[in-house]
Amino acid sequence: MRKNIVAGNWKMNKTLQEGLALVDALKVALADRDKVNCDVVLGTPFIHLVNAVASIGDKKIGVAAQNCADKVSGAYTGEVSAAMIASTGAKYVILGHSERRTYYGETDATLKEKVVLALANGLTPIFCIGEVLEERESNKQEVVVKSQIENALFALSAEDFSKIVLAYEPVWAIGTGKTATSAQAQEMHAFIRKTIVDKYGKEVADGISILYGGSCNASNAKELFANPDVDGGLIGGASLEVDKFMPIIDAF
Ligand code: PEP
Repeated sequence: MRKNIVAGNWKMNKTLQEGLALVDALKVALADRDKVNCDVVLGTPFIHLVNAVASIGDKKIGVAAQNCADKVSGAYTGEVSAAMIASTGAKYVILGHSERRTYYGETDATLKEKVVLALANGLTPIFCIGEVLEERESNKQEVVVKSQIENALFALSAEDFSKIVLAYEPVWAIGTGKTATSAQAQEMHAFIRKTIVDKYGKEVADGISILYGGSCNASNAKELFANPDVDGGLIGGASLEVDKFMPIIDAF
């Protein structure tokens, strides 16, 4: 059965010292819980990966990078490869975030390469998809999301596709305080799962965790996660403080 996952995306926040403090505080808060009903992932900037992995030492918390190179290794100044990320002990990599697509020109074709490299290095891609506001307003959200999935992921074998975590993040809801309604989230997640059924069959589709992202917070997480096809969240702003992140984890 698929996992429930709450993954934080710190984006470009936290100095080394601030990151260590946040990881420590989260560890303390999680140790306080008798039971945590989801896997917790921390998506940190590269500089935190080694420390976060070392500090956590708890299998229920995974560490994610927020990007990886689309090349194996070599003369690509400033890039960090999937193999380098895996060598830190991080288990996940967030790929295709809308900020990477918008500000750094990442295309489905580049992302396809990144996914292959991530999987080849044993990393679980948390692959982000989602429409912009104009696409939602012109009712094109399903076409857009389907094409993002098809173009970047549908060349994978069923075995490899089964290792992916998807994150539906309507771009108009990211960092805006405007959340998709619970019904909008469920409708899109069900559509995504149906798209996977059509390509890989029901067994594969039922095993894929599909997270919701976009202004998810303590007040809306429970309702969003109660949907049958919403298997957790990718959390930006609210993952930067323990008091905001823990209630989302506790929403399961
Ligand atoms: C994100 O960065 O993936 C995100 C969902 O951000 P926020 O929760 O701040 O909207």
